[in-house]
Amino acid sequence: MEAFSFFLLSISICFVSLLLILFITNASRKQNFRGPRLAIFSAFICGILITLTPYLCLLTTQTIVFEVSSLLHLCKISFVSILFFFLFFVIINMIEENPVMPKRKTSGLQKDKIAFHSLSVTAAFFVLGFTYFVIQSFNIPVTLVKEQSIVPLVLLSASIYTLARIYEHLFMDKIIFQRKLSQLQLSFLFLMFSLCLNSSIFIFIKSLFLQLNFYMAIVAIVSMVVLLVSTIHYIENQLLHQQDQLEVKNQVLSLNEQRYRSLFENNPNAVFTLDLHWNFTAVNASVRPMIGFTLEELQHLTLTDLVLEQEKTKITTILEELAKGDNTNFETIMRTKSAEIVKLKVTALPIKINNEITGAYLIAQDITKQIEIQERVKFLAYHDELTGLLNRRGIYRELENHIHASTLTATILIDLDMFKDINDHLGHDAGDVLLKQVAERLTKTLGREELISRMGGDEFLICLTAPYKRVEVLERIQAIQAAMKEPFQIQQSSKEITLSIGVSFYPEDGENLNTLLKHADMAMYEAKKSGRNNAVQYSSRFGVQKLNQITLLQELKVAFEQEQLLLYFQPKHSTVHQSMVGVETLIRWNHPERGFINPGEFIPLAEENGLIVPLSNWIIQNAFKTFSNWLKEHDVNFHLSINISPTHFFDEDFVPFLLEQLQKYKIPAQLIDLEITENLAIENTELTNKKINILKEKGLQISMDDFGTGYTSLTYLSHFNMNRIKIDRSFIKELPDNRNNGAIVQSLLSVAKNLDILVTAEGVETEEQLNVLKEWGCDEIQGYYYSMPLPEEKLIAYWQGTN
Ligand code: C2E
Ligand code: CA
Ligand code: CA
Repeated sequence: MEAFSFFLLSISICFVSLLLILFITNASRKQNFRGPRLAIFSAFICGILITLTPYLCLLTTQTIVFEVSSLLHLCKISFVSILFFFLFFVIINMIEENPVMPKRKTSGLQKDKIAFHSLSVTAAFFVLGFTYFVIQSFNIPVTLVKEQSIVPLVLLSASIYTLARIYEHLFMDKIIFQRKLSQLQLSFLFLMFSLCLNSSIFIFIKSLFLQLNFYMAIVAIVSMVVLLVSTIHYIENQLLHQQDQLEVKNQVLSLNEQRYRSLFENNPNAVFTLDLHWNFTAVNASVRPMIGFTLEELQHLTLTDLVLEQEKTKITTILEELAKGDNTNFETIMRTKSAEIVKLKVTALPIKINNEITGAYLIAQDITKQIEIQERVKFLAYHDELTGLLNRRGIYRELENHIHASTLTATILIDLDMFKDINDHLGHDAGDVLLKQVAERLTKTLGREELISRMGGDEFLICLTAPYKRVEVLERIQAIQAAMKEPFQIQQSSKEITLSIGVSFYPEDGENLNTLLKHADMAMYEAKKSGRNNAVQYSSRFGVQKLNQITLLQELKVAFEQEQLLLYFQPKHSTVHQSMVGVETLIRWNHPERGFINPGEFIPLAEENGLIVPLSNWIIQNAFKTFSNWLKEHDVNFHLSINISPTHFFDEDFVPFLLEQLQKYKIPAQLIDLEITENLAIENTELTNKKINILKEKGLQISMDDFGTGYTSLTYLSHFNMNRIKIDRSFIKELPDNRNNGAIVQSLLSVAKNLDILVTAEGVETEEQLNVLKEWGCDEIQGYYYSMPLPEEKLIAYWQGTN
């Protein structure tokens, strides 16, 4: 009975204290309640506990009676035990700064265990010794029999050690695994400990009175065994949980590793891994096809060994940046194992492990082909594909600069005599060979510094930009003629050719490009007329020659009156829905004697002689009349395009006339599209833009005709507020075989797409042409593939047929 009340009291106090300590240590992790403060608190609880337990035992066994003085005495001695426990906890803290974190070295762990054991034995010794001291301090005669104290000492050491382990694993659970032992399990463990502690103390006290309590010893041993078994069970359970967690972590790691591997190994770009000395440590499978080296070979090289000499300093700077932890993108040129050159676009990323840079990844893409194409497209925009000389656009660009700087001396236009014969008799390939050889001789004679261009066909334009005197220019021309005297070897036969040359001088024969060229052209025409193989300088008297064309001009005036002029219409189709979306108005002259005369022949004539305005007005009026009939009678939904010649476009009355006619025929402005040529646009950019904007405000559509033949570069496109460009037939003609034309058309289409400009392809004759254009995203198609230009009634029948 006495034992029962002792247990009831002491176990509950012990149990509550344990929970309190656990609670406080848990809480202390979050708040500022660590180190000495925590040690003081724990020491206080333990100290009180250890003093109170023997006192309670003495009270319950009625060895002493309860008095205030004894309580005061107890308080005094409890101070000693508190001090002991304080030192004890400080030592534990010192052994293991963080008792929760597993130690890396096993030997360290082993040492800790031994320290723990000895501390537990020390604590047990102290507890029992203190109990002995407490009892003695009440002047109660007791005898300490060493043999009998061994059992409580062993039990007590073991239980204290087990408790320490329980605490340790509780924290592991909480901090490492974020899980909590259930309250029931925890209470059970604490209860077992309290039982073991108190029964051990009880049997120790009893042994002091030489009253061995056999039952109580059994209780102590059993509770110790139960405590041990349940603690082992608890620790095992924690180990299993730890294993599970490790497995999950390993799985995640292995997945990440596989993901990373496939990103590395299956990357179509070459991926290099470098260490901090910039040696290659790993490469993926794409590296070898790109630069030819294997990892083993690369391990004897550094990045700077691979790049070209001129790239080395750049690479060194980039590597320095990388070492600082910055990502960079750069382009570089490497030499492959077989000494070929590859151009690479590289993304370089530092590899950071635990915030420390340990190397770098280089991800490289081979852009050799891409750059070649870009350069080719750029080259072809300004150069003739066959001869490599400047093309029309190229020389115009150069000339523009020289005229601005007044460094132009003379423009020389050269035409090969009888070139057509060679083309006709020996074929186009032979013609091409000849043109190439002529180009080579021109370059050789004049030197690369001079501006030499092929204007198309067999026409070459040379611009001398050095400050030559007139005689010196003529000497150069003679040199050219001399260079061409030597027969040309074409298809195993030798051919001799002669040149017709026209020269105009700057600034005497013209201060702007067009005049100079027109005058050189007139001079060349003169050379041809006077029996070819001739060089002629421009003279103002050539203007008079035009009078020869007067007959044609007079006839054209009559043509108006006698209704020899007709309008034809050529359909334009959409590539999206194939249906007809518009028609282009084309004039025809049905001459009573000569038959149909090409507009190419009489439009320029009309333009030069001031006849173009009345002619154009006639075209607009008649085209509108026809179109308004179609709208009324056939309810057509396509638009009508009209070619506007430059002189007409700049004429003051043009816009008012056009608007008046629109009103007269009640045609919605949106259905009218005006085709202006690109050279017109370029010559007078500001005025052109102003007019275009006025017309567009009225709702009209504007197209840039014959795009690519003049000297507009792609960049000019954005300067004009166009609805549409029409790619000239010369680019379409050889599609899809002519790759360079293909590349130009494609880049044109992509620029136009970006600027939201529609693109019409002119002169589409075959299905293959149609298919590639469709594939490249061209919007509209015009050409013989769909239909030739048709007279009014046939056009409407055609439309009804396709609709
Ligand atoms: P353009 O504006 O480039 O007109 C297109 C020319 O290409 C037309 O020649 C047309 O018949 C021709 N064409 C269309 N599809 C094909 C094809 O698939 N293959 C081939 N080989 N040729 C095709 P056309 O009618 O002889 O006109 C020549 C030029 O005369 C026009 O070139 C334009 O600049 C001018 N022109 C024609 N009619 C007028 C007009 O009413 N006013 C003005 N100002 N100029 C006009
Ligand atoms: Ca046209
Ligand atoms: Ca055209």
